[in-house]
Amino acid sequence: MIPLAAHKLKFLNFSEQEEPFIIKLYEDKMLPVPLRKAGAYIITDDDIPDHYSCYICFDKKQAEKIIEQSKRAVCLDDNYKHLSNGDVVRINPANKSMRILYRRNSEHNSFLVTERCNHYCLMCSQPPKKIDDSWIVNEILETIPLIDPETKEIGFTGGEPTLLEDDFLRILQKCKNYLPNSAVHILSNGRKFADIDYAVKYSQIDHPDMMLGIPLYSDVSHIHDYVVQADNAFDETIRGILNLKKLRQKVEIRIVIHKQTYKRLPQLAEFLARNLLFVDHVALMGLEIMGFTKANMDDLWIDMHDYQHELVVATKRLASAGINVSIYNHQLCVLDKSIWPYARKSISDWKNDYLAECEMCAKQDQCGGFFSSQLLKPSNYIKAFDD
Ligand code: SF4
Repeated sequence: MIPLAAHKLKFLNFSEQEEPFIIKLYEDKMLPVPLRKAGAYIITDDDIPDHYSCYICFDKKQAEKIIEQSKRAVCLDDNYKHLSNGDVVRINPANKSMRILYRRNSEHNSFLVTERCNHYCLMCSQPPKKIDDSWIVNEILETIPLIDPETKEIGFTGGEPTLLEDDFLRILQKCKNYLPNSAVHILSNGRKFADIDYAVKYSQIDHPDMMLGIPLYSDVSHIHDYVVQADNAFDETIRGILNLKKLRQKVEIRIVIHKQTYKRLPQLAEFLARNLLFVDHVALMGLEIMGFTKANMDDLWIDMHDYQHELVVATKRLASAGINVSIYNHQLCVLDKSIWPYARKSISDWKNDYLAECEMCAKQDQCGGFFSSQLLKPSNYIKAFDD
């Protein structure tokens, strides 16, 4: 969900007493009137159709027309011209704010389900908060029916989504009912699935394409528990993964590589090949410099050039065991050429960036580039390819 800065918005003809509401955006002048009444129209020219619940406008002339016609509108600057037909937003007239909940043209739509978590990972990009944010459940339940059913994938993150227990399962069930063709990808620490009853309830949703992305940082329990700053985490996570696979659920293992995890990457790959061969995907991921990572840089950051040996050994071991393996968030000029076939362009469009050096690079279109946050401290070995 993408919040818009309040100072960039201007509200016209809304009552400040009005409750926040979720609404779908349209660019269609011919939409049937009943649908218009439940939607917002993005103004594109001088011809403003009637009957929409409210309007999105971008310039002074449009705003003057809106005032003249006593319509309600949110005025945005040109940075938000990417809003388009089928997007869904939450408008809050009381504090004059708006959040983008879903972008139809993006391949990276994900919902933060809760900010609460039972881990406190050294490199958490979304530091947990002990707050009651249970209202988010209803917001997501209300948004799902407005999402285009042709959407390829919907993601759920936290915090830890399973802390919502059955409420989280209600969200997934609603995805299955309204968006049966959209893959669902969930980031979870997997511990809740050590509870077989919960794992069974999850499996009974019987979604045709739903995958849990579960982090595992070491083959040694105390190293994993140290990275996630939680006792018993390793044991519960492994039991959770075993329960899920017993119930034929899709599981992806996610390994973030940093100073605390790189040394045992080959042993972790061996552990996976011997004990969890049946997982559906393993993602070997570069560090995002967000949240707690910024505070723990000395303990975490290592130039990705300096762990290429471990990464090559781990990747090849996983691949030779027949495990589907991918490398995320690594730049091609630093990555050992022998493992390029496993590198994926994985960074969400709104977080993806490149260095000035990349402009001269012959392989820029094949390279996934950087998280915007990685530009704070990129590898010292970034070098454009000549051909
Ligand atoms: S120079 Fe930039 S675009 Fe080229 S491989 Fe390196 S990071 Fe990627």
